Amino acid sequence: MRCRRCKAPAVMQVRRHNAAFCAACFLRHCREQVRRAIDEHGMIGEGEKVLVAVSGGKDSLALWDLLVELGYQADGLYLGLGIGAYSDASVSYVRSYVEARSLKLIELDIPTVYGFGIPEGAAAARRVPCSACGLSKRHLFNQAALDGGYDVIATGHNLDDEAAVLLGNVLRWATEYLGRQEPVLPASTGFARKVKPLVRLGEREMAAYCVIQGIEYMVEECPMAEGNKHLGYKAALNAIEEASPGSKQAFYAGFLSRGLPHFRPGSEEDRTQLGACTSCGAPTPSGQCAFCRLVESAGAPAAGTPVADPRRRPGPAPVAP
Ligand code: SF4
Repeated sequence: MRCRRCKAPAVMQVRRHNAAFCAACFLRHCREQVRRAIDEHGMIGEGEKVLVAVSGGKDSLALWDLLVELGYQADGLYLGLGIGAYSDASVSYVRSYVEARSLKLIELDIPTVYGFGIPEGAAAARRVPCSACGLSKRHLFNQAALDGGYDVIATGHNLDDEAAVLLGNVLRWATEYLGRQEPVLPASTGFARKVKPLVRLGEREMAAYCVIQGIEYMVEECPMAEGNKHLGYKAALNAIEEASPGSKQAFYAGFLSRGLPHFRPGSEEDRTQLGACTSCGAPTPSGQCAFCRLVESAGAPAAGTPVADPRRRPGPAPVAP
C-alpha cells in the first residue's frame, strides 16, 4: 500500500476516500479536513479566541493540537466530572499534553466547585448520568467561554459521533434536535458560538493522528456510557460503513445540505423566546435553568450558588425581550 500523495509506504488507509497515506501526508490530510470544515461552515474568524473543551480522549486532544497547528489562538477547558478513577486518569492525560506544549488550560472541578459529582447529581435529580453530564457541560462550557472572553467553543465531535446522533434523531424523528444538529451553532444573547471542526474526520483517523503525533490519551470509555444507545447507533453505522465505505459521510453531509434546512426554522424560534435563569442569569425557557435545578437537587447550598465558583456572575439579567 502506497501513499496517495507521495507514493511512500502508507501507514493509514482511509477507505471513505479510497486512499492511503504515509505519516506526514496523513497529518496533512487531517489538517486539510479541519481547515475545510472551518472554512465551509464559517466556524472561526481571523484573530478569534477559541476555547477547546478537552476531556483527555483522542478527539478533543487531537482537535486542540490541530487548531494550534493551524495557527489558532486556542486554550483548553477541562471539566472534572467526579466520576472516580475515570476522572482522575482523564485529567492526567490533559495535564501531560499541556505540560509538554506550554498551552493554557482552564480546569473546573465540578465536585470541588459545586459539591457533587455527576453520578450523585444524576441520582439526586433522577436523571440518567449522561443527561446530567451533558447539561452540566453545556452550561459550564458556555459560562466559561463568556466569562473568559472567548469568541467560540470548539468540541471534539467527529464524523462518527455526528452520524450516530443523526441516526438516533432520525429514528425518533426528533425534529427539534434535528434542527439544531449543525456543525456551527451561532452566538446569540447569552450563548457563545459552538463549533465542531472534526466533522470531516472519523474516529479511526483521530486515534491514528494521536499515535503519529505522540499524543497519549485516555483509551477507556467512561463507565457511565455502558448501555448508552449512542454506542449501538455507532456499531450499526460501522457495519454499514464496512460494507459500503463512505456511507457515514454521505448520510451526514446529505443531511446538512438537504435535510437540515427543513428542520432549522423551528429551533431558531425557540432560542429567541428564552428568558433569564432566576438563579444564575443563563438563558432558559423556564424560571430556573436546568443546571441550577440539578445543583439544587444535588443538595448544594442554594440553586445557582456554587460552593466556590470564582466566575459566578451577578444577579439575573434579561436575555430576550
Ligand atoms: Fe458524561 Fe455520559 Fe460521556 Fe460519561 S459517557 S462523559 S457521563 S456524557
